[in-house]
Amino acid sequence: MSNKINLIYLLGAGRSGTTLLATLLNNHDDIETLGEMHQFIEYVDKDKDCSCGEKLTSCSTWNLSSDLMDSNIKDERLYCENKESHKNIPSLIFNKKADKRYISIQEHIFSALSGNRKSKWYLDSSKYIARYLLLKKSKKLNIKGIYMVRDPRGVINSFTKKVQTSKRPLSAILYYNMINLFGEVVSRNNRNILKIKYEDLVESPEQVLDEIYKHVFGSSKASVKMPEYFTMPHIVGGNRIKTKKRIHLSKDTDWQRNIPRARQIMYYYLCFPFTYINKYRV
Ligand SMILES: [Zn+2]
Repeated sequence: MSNKINLIYLLGAGRSGTTLLATLLNNHDDIETLGEMHQFIEYVDKDKDCSCGEKLTSCSTWNLSSDLMDSNIKDERLYCENKESHKNIPSLIFNKKADKRYISIQEHIFSALSGNRKSKWYLDSSKYIARYLLLKKSKKLNIKGIYMVRDPRGVINSFTKKVQTSKRPLSAILYYNMINLFGEVVSRNNRNILKIKYEDLVESPEQVLDEIYKHVFGSSKASVKMPEYFTMPHIVGGNRIKTKKRIHLSKDTDWQRNIPRARQIMYYYLCFPFTYINKYRV
């Protein structure tokens, strides 16, 4: 038996439904969602709140051990954040060498967490592609990636809402194209990454979850049953749905009403070829 820590890693552009998927997967008995773990050190450093409202450092689910908090991980925050930056993605794609310092910090964190919890799989919904490429080199982590895509117009519409960090349409498009260009390159070159569409997930969740379980566990339960609602896991990061105690699965198609038709068509072509590759309709 290997002593590897099993990790499901979600990749993709922001506002693509990763927090939703992370919440749904937490419903599986063998999966525990941790949230956007690239923010973990910041949460400890700044004593930020877990999604439950307690400080992360006093949340009983996290049950952070003193040796983790007393260690020098806080000093490594900037180092890790720099390494995870999008600008490093191209070199990480070609660089075969592992970043020992980065890996030892992250392994230290995951080992400490898995020592406190007894889940078979942990889920990191950071989304950052650079982080995936860095963690992938760890010999202690067994990683299965899930690359999530969404119609760019849904992403743009979500970014224009005045919550969290908002982006104007043009900057949302540039961001979307950059992340999905790297997302395509990385997912096509790693058999450990499964690509799924947000629209398929909300349309037929049982089917998509079944596909994900096969990808992660190698087999799936006879049938996936969807509960009426999902309880929010104790997470770091995540979008505004995290403040809800429970969430219902509903399809967000506001963009079809909010974005004028001519702009919908323009955005479609500005995000070509990703709209085409992922079979979205004009
Ligand atoms: Zn909590």
